[in-house]
Amino acid sequence: MLSILELERKVVKTNLCTNCGACQGMCPYWKSYEGRTFVDYECDRAEGRCKYFCPRMPADLDSLMKKFFEEKDITSELGPVKGLYLTRAADPQIRAKAQHGGTMTALVELALAEGFIDAAVLSKAEGTLDPEGQLITDPADVRACSGSSFQIPPTMAVLNEALKENEYKKIGVVGTPCKTLSAYKMMAKPFEDNDNNADNIGMVFGLFCGWGLDWKGMEAFGDAGHADILPSKFHRMDLDDRQVDLDDVLPLVRENCNYCYDMTAEFADLSVGGARSSEGWDTDKGWNQLIVRSEKGQKLVELAREKGILEFREFGDDSAKAAAMDKLKKASASKKSKAVQALIEKDGTLGYLEPSKEIFAEYIK
Ligand SMILES: Cc1cc2nc3c(=O)[nH]c(=O)nc-3n(C[C@H](O)[C@H](O)[C@H](O)COP(=O)(O)OP(=O)(O)OC[C@H]3O[C@@H](n4cnc5c(N)ncnc54)[C@H](O)[C@@H]3O)c2cc1C
Repeated sequence: MLSILELERKVVKTNLCTNCGACQGMCPYWKSYEGRTFVDYECDRAEGRCKYFCPRMPADLDSLMKKFFEEKDITSELGPVKGLYLTRAADPQIRAKAQHGGTMTALVELALAEGFIDAAVLSKAEGTLDPEGQLITDPADVRACSGSSFQIPPTMAVLNEALKENEYKKIGVVGTPCKTLSAYKMMAKPFEDNDNNADNIGMVFGLFCGWGLDWKGMEAFGDAGHADILPSKFHRMDLDDRQVDLDDVLPLVRENCNYCYDMTAEFADLSVGGARSSEGWDTDKGWNQLIVRSEKGQKLVELAREKGILEFREFGDDSAKAAAMDKLKKASASKKSKAVQALIEKDGTLGYLEPSKEIFAEYIK
């Protein structure tokens, strides 16, 4: 079957598509509008990159992970882990606009300033709505992209366009787990001679992710400067000072997110989420959890420590740190179990996780 038709049938028409944009930006055939990806024209390629870059097409995720990360670091629940930290940006101006502690903004800024990357693909929204991918080359522009958009923009299309131009040789990309997985599928270069310059991906920065929300549905809540989903015991989303009951938000969760097994963006040099330590929300508010996964990620975080770009908060004693790790692993395992059950309910198979059956077997109930 032609690649474009296979991708459309297996991913778009089955509501597995995340709108990450990995199939876009290389050709005129795939497009996106208000959170939905669609085929604009037919393409007659039997083997297209779009199909192989898609995070929801079947792939052997175990081999992919072992290709890029040290096997000794790989955990079943969280993927590769070299270290877990509680951090926030030292600069209060970053923290004021950031989603949680501004760790991501501070690290991307540092990576650009210190030459770890020479460009960055970020997402920028008008308030909380209508986000779009942005290619940034000046560290001074990183802060304008702070904050989280729960509508999902096709950021990877911007990465693909930048890779195609071949001007920047070390492009960093920030993304939710679906996006970061697609970046590693690109770097695996399924077509050596037609790889869209995938070697020019310099660093991958992951965001923890529970789910994204329906594009049009979000508009009903109106715009806000800041949207945040609080820890589960609060059962609410905050839009600036407005509190929205989570029961009104959950119907807007994108269907494809139910099939996502990854809470912490396991394919990334480092991943950042909101802090959830044993000390509780009053202490954790405004802090991040940071998982370092690769040597490059480790070098950047160590530089951020040396230069005082990030502040580090201790978990407490060793048992408190172990408890935090355990809590994170449990939350992540729960997302995997739910995804596996949802996929099985869909058509009796593990769907796109089928080639990785062995690593997901423990999550089948
Ligand atoms: C849809 C979504 C769901 C999330 N769910 C969870 C969750 O369940 N638990 C949790 O702990 N954390 C979750 N996060 C991550 C969290 O919201 C913060 O992004 C993370 O804690 C980093 O905080 P920060 O203050 O360092 O980010 P900031 O310094 O504010 O930087 C955020 C970065 O994310 C980029 N960005 C924003 N929105 C998007 C998007 N939609 N796609 C790609 N890049 C984007 C921005 O360009 C910016 O570079 C989610 C994020 C998103 C986008």
